Amino acid sequence: PTRRLTGFQATGRLHLGNLLGAMRPLIAAQDAAPSIALIADLHAMTVEHNPTEVRASALELATVLLAAGVDPRRTPIVLQSQMREHTELHYLLECVTGFGEAARMIQFKEKSAAGGQVRLSLLTYPILMAADILLYDVTQVPVGEDQNQHLELTRTLADRFNTRYGETFTVPEGVKPEAAARIMDLADPTTKMSKTTGAGRIGLLDPPEVVRRTVARAVTDEFATVRRDPERQPGVTNLIDILAACAGRPPADTDSYGALKSEVTDAIEALLTPIRARHAELSDDPGYVREVLARSADRVRPTAEATVRRARQAIGLLD
Ligand code: ATP
Ligand code: MG
Repeated sequence: PTRRLTGFQATGRLHLGNLLGAMRPLIAAQDAAPSIALIADLHAMTVEHNPTEVRASALELATVLLAAGVDPRRTPIVLQSQMREHTELHYLLECVTGFGEAARMIQFKEKSAAGGQVRLSLLTYPILMAADILLYDVTQVPVGEDQNQHLELTRTLADRFNTRYGETFTVPEGVKPEAAARIMDLADPTTKMSKTTGAGRIGLLDPPEVVRRTVARAVTDEFATVRRDPERQPGVTNLIDILAACAGRPPADTDSYGALKSEVTDAIEALLTPIRARHAELSDDPGYVREVLARSADRVRPTAEATVRRARQAIGLLD
């Protein structure tokens, strides 16, 4: 049977790209393909971080996932740091990873080239990610292109461990998120919308006037024609794609960018209004959100414990 894991880093604030590219596919498949939603707070510490913000962001992420429609009875929402098995398996997997293999990861090279102190955990991040995935015996991992290399490493490590020490892990496949939407930054439509960088981000909890303003300021072009052309018209193409993803339809027959933007604003609003409302309710009840996290951890713990037990035995540790 298909089992999936979708991860979210506990950094920054969730945006429209996260909703359309990751959360909606997860919610839509809640019956067909049982998923675990993982809130990766340990990963948030691989770069300079603020402890208060990481804590707040973890709880906020759980709250937004619930507000957007993740049903915790079907989809456990697991906080990585509340399950010790992640770090335990991380170490065991480090013992089948080459230093060069980790150092070759593009994301490590990019982030470490940015200068400043480089944390060792930034280098080993993909191995922790491998542990996140292998721990739960999942068969599929929806990943964006930015995570393809890390998923390949996960598969390599699982295969290698299985070959050297005996069948221990399910080797997962990467799947392209169904929505296929890769939402670009509205201020710079050649880079993807991101929690941590970019000025043209639509936050899932942004108030309506902020959404309207961000869309109104979206970068377009001088062609004055509403047409999907990612090469020449990346900004307009992004707006068309957002409309398609939010409302499931093409834009009205117009070549006015103003009209296109107002359609896009309305479509985003229709999607975000109920999420904001539900989020406000849930924010009044943080005890409930914490209870969801605790119950979710209880639900997935047997699988995680069993995986770690198999790995410990296989690699040569006493019971
Ligand atoms: P960061 O900049 O911190 O990496 P992020 O926006 O990339 O933030 P992640 O927590 O890394 O967010 O990703 C969460 C999920 O959202 C992943 O499944 C990822 O593929 C998806 N996702 C992230 N950005 C976009 C985007 N612009 N369009 C579609 N999906 C996205
Ligand atoms: Mg990312």
